[in-house]
Amino acid sequence: MLTIKDLRASVEGKEILKGLNLDIKPGEVHAIMGPNGAGKSTLGYVLSGRDGYEVSGGQVELNGENVLEMEVEERAQAGLFLAFQYPVEIPGVSNMEFMKESVNAVRKERGEESLSAAEFLKKAKEACKQVNLPLDFLKRGVNEGFSGGEKKRNEIMQMILLEPSICILDESDSGLDVDALQVVANGVNSQRDGKRSFIVVTHYQRLLDYIEPDFVHILADGKIVKSGDASLAKEVEKTGYAWLSKAEEAGA
Ligand code: ADP
Ligand code: MG
Ligand code: MG
Repeated sequence: MLTIKDLRASVEGKEILKGLNLDIKPGEVHAIMGPNGAGKSTLGYVLSGRDGYEVSGGQVELNGENVLEMEVEERAQAGLFLAFQYPVEIPGVSNMEFMKESVNAVRKERGEESLSAAEFLKKAKEACKQVNLPLDFLKRGVNEGFSGGEKKRNEIMQMILLEPSICILDESDSGLDVDALQVVANGVNSQRDGKRSFIVVTHYQRLLDYIEPDFVHILADGKIVKSGDASLAKEVEKTGYAWLSKAEEAGA
């Protein structure tokens, strides 16, 4: 479904991703861990098409389509959801209006009919409930004055409403409290349906206590240096990342 081949990308002339490979099949949950500055967030930004991230090589294909050639909105319409794509504040535009427009744009691309205001409201209320946000959040300006935890809940609500085929969540933000972590985890788990796939970027093993990944990858110095199952995350929690530099010294 999503194939990343030898991806190279730079920020301000500095190469950050140095030949990254990743292959994600429908229904799989992949966790990406790694030391600070390894390029985890950069990977998310490159996939989202953020300005300032220059791709210098490699390929990214989503269901056979070239993601790197798509505009930002086209990526969402192709089924890619990036949690941090939306966190900008949009004062004066209600969460509800914003989400209805986004959802209908995605539905149009999928050849589905637009949701009416009433249909959307029903879905939005259910999603609100699911992430434990009061209904008045739908009326508030997008992210306007939201706390960190509320932004996170809102993000997961967006994910639920957009019904993407692949979700990329960057949870390196260690400021999340356990409640917010659980909202993220419940959101992911409730959307796991055997078809939808996830990339969960996380600095700490803690989130993976709630989300059982199928694969864990260690990203270091712009590349995936080790892949394994969920037990790799537990190993990293115990040993940290010191083994990375030792492996390099040994020429491994
Ligand atoms: P991680 O998420 O794994 O901690 P990042 O992807 O945030 O790592 O950063 C990888 C490297 O890219 C770091 O060395 C960081 O300083 C650098 N970097 C990221 N964004 C920028 C930027 N806008 N300008 C310059 N350097 C950047
Ligand atoms: Mg970081
Ligand atoms: Mg990061």
